[in-house]
Amino acid sequence: MTGNQRFSNVMSKFPHQAREWRLRQASGQSPFAIIFSCVDSRVPPELVFDRGIGDLFVIRTAGHVIDNAALGSIEFGVEELHIPLIMVLGHQSCGAVAATIAALDQHTPTPDQINSLVAAITPAVEQARGQTGDRLDNAVRANIALTVERLRTVPLLGEAPEQQRVKLVGARYDLHTGGVEVTHM
Ligand SMILES: [Zn+2]
Repeated sequence: MTGNQRFSNVMSKFPHQAREWRLRQASGQSPFAIIFSCVDSRVPPELVFDRGIGDLFVIRTAGHVIDNAALGSIEFGVEELHIPLIMVLGHQSCGAVAATIAALDQHTPTPDQINSLVAAITPAVEQARGQTGDRLDNAVRANIALTVERLRTVPLLGEAPEQQRVKLVGARYDLHTGGVEVTHM
């Protein structure tokens, strides 16, 4: 979050990108956070948090939809690399969430595997239905919360006492300010 403050204030330091640091990281990685985020080209985690090589373990799918490969990658980060923090990072104006709203409103089938994204994001759109305020942004926030809650049900990440070493949070990135706001603890 400190790095994000630098980024949003246009004071990025671009740390951990020098040759010496890269060479030191070649013998092993110890990233301090898993960022599970959307594929959106405007939300690159290393830039948004002003971090460099070896800092962030990043998994990205459209709308941070969980599939087996994404979940296996998150579990790998926790089990093998002992990363203590998972952040689900959604963002303003998410195209995957917008596409889901459009598909539900228009009852139009989406092609092939895009349909699996729509199916996964549909519960967030349903949850946001009837809320006051911006419909897309409400659905984005619901999608973040539901993704965090879904990850909490994964035995390796969530419930058992010895696994409480992993902290799971949800956050939303604002395209205009560049700021990240923690929305779900
Ligand atoms: Zn998105």
